Amino acid sequence: MTPTDAFEELCHQAREIALLESIGELLGWDERTYMPPAAGEYRAEQMAFLSGLIHQRRTDPRLGALLEELAASPLAQDPHSDEGTTIRELRRQYDKQVKLPRSLVEELTRASVLGQQAWVQARQDNDYRLFAPHAEKIFHLKRQQAACLGYADHPYDALLDDYEPAARTAEVAKVLDALRQELVPLVGAIMQSGRTAPVGILQREYPLAAQEAFGKTAAAAIGFDFTRGRLDTTHHPFCAGLGPRDCRITTRYDERFFNTAFFGILHEAGHGIYDQGLRPQWYGLPPGQAVSLGIHESQSRLWENLVGRSRAFWQHFFPQLAGAFPAAVADVTLDAFYWAINHVAPSLIRVEADEATYNLHIVVRFELEQALLKGDLAVGDLPAAWREKYGEYLGVEPHDDADGVLQDIHWSAGLVGYFPTYALGNLYAAQFFEQADRDLGGLDRLIARGEFNPLVEWLRKHIHHPGQRYTAAELVERVTGRPLSHDPLMNHLKRKFAPLYGL
Ligand code: ZN
Repeated sequence: MTPTDAFEELCHQAREIALLESIGELLGWDERTYMPPAAGEYRAEQMAFLSGLIHQRRTDPRLGALLEELAASPLAQDPHSDEGTTIRELRRQYDKQVKLPRSLVEELTRASVLGQQAWVQARQDNDYRLFAPHAEKIFHLKRQQAACLGYADHPYDALLDDYEPAARTAEVAKVLDALRQELVPLVGAIMQSGRTAPVGILQREYPLAAQEAFGKTAAAAIGFDFTRGRLDTTHHPFCAGLGPRDCRITTRYDERFFNTAFFGILHEAGHGIYDQGLRPQWYGLPPGQAVSLGIHESQSRLWENLVGRSRAFWQHFFPQLAGAFPAAVADVTLDAFYWAINHVAPSLIRVEADEATYNLHIVVRFELEQALLKGDLAVGDLPAAWREKYGEYLGVEPHDDADGVLQDIHWSAGLVGYFPTYALGNLYAAQFFEQADRDLGGLDRLIARGEFNPLVEWLRKHIHHPGQRYTAAELVERVTGRPLSHDPLMNHLKRKFAPLYGL
């Protein structure tokens, strides 16, 4: 067999696995948008069966033999070529997959589908006890998963690697510590400033239909392609890539709060623009796949915060906003609106947190899930530990678990090691944006004119098209000329908030 033949067979196998995975994604999308509640148990069976099937395909010895044969071939010579990337990344994934028994993979899927369903009920009833046995089971299985995969320092390394390949717990902790040390004084200074943003204007009547229409207009304007995607409603918004030309974004609406849906839509559209920017001819193969969740999140955060919460963005969109919500915005100035959407205050809910305090919410979860995984913290003690950490880092404590430990879906879905990718996303986003601003000669000027395409094209070229050619750390260094640092994000936050709060 020639290397070219072996490579073709490898790609064929990988594309079939991608077909199965996209079917699983579709089941998951349906589960979180339109599925009737009573269908839950059967859906768990469908998804567990499919994940077992996928695992079987991903650990097929034939795949191992092909990868073995290709490892020394000329196609693998340049690890950053499309072929080299394909061989290198499929090898890495295969080596991980074969360490996991199929029974564990199926059990994890079933536990996480049932866990999510229990979480919905527990959150609705504000009753942590409904969720606790599921959390117990899930963390037990995640410990087994880490043990099967192996790790150098901390079992958390093994799980983090699923979301942020090649990242290490200790390194992530280092950069988050550096960030926190500067963030806490900044938030403190803002709170001491005595100034309060006019947030009341965001809590007026914003009719749902107008929110949906305005959100879709903005998403399309920044580059989300609705001929290859759609927007639906869910409890916990997400973006799902279901095929090379099928990207589903979701949001939730609050008629008495503008930010929830609008910035949620910009965020998910940012994820979607990344998915839609991946090269379709490589769909399902590493050169056509996202680098990591952190890099994915950098794309959503870039559009949501660095673009969507900028003054330039609203110079362009404010007249349209006033047209869409005449009753709510009639007496509001652009300056007042800009300040309102950049209101800073420590709060309880992560997804509604402002740019300045958001990463402190992540630090809480990052520390707690490490402790749970290691067994340093018992599931029964989690709500109390949650309240304590919120008090310590954010100066606020939830009155109930619905606004506390039950607010996020992640742990119920078996996503342990996922949270730090949100903070990494913010850091990557600021560093990329700073570079794009330099390369494009000032983004404010373009954004204020509603010209988003130069930024989209810059992202396509530097971030989307390479797919998985580089690890996240390599990509950051290649694109910006230096390793990841908390400086660009801190500089951005200081530049934005100093004038607003008179610092
Ligand atoms: Zn996101």
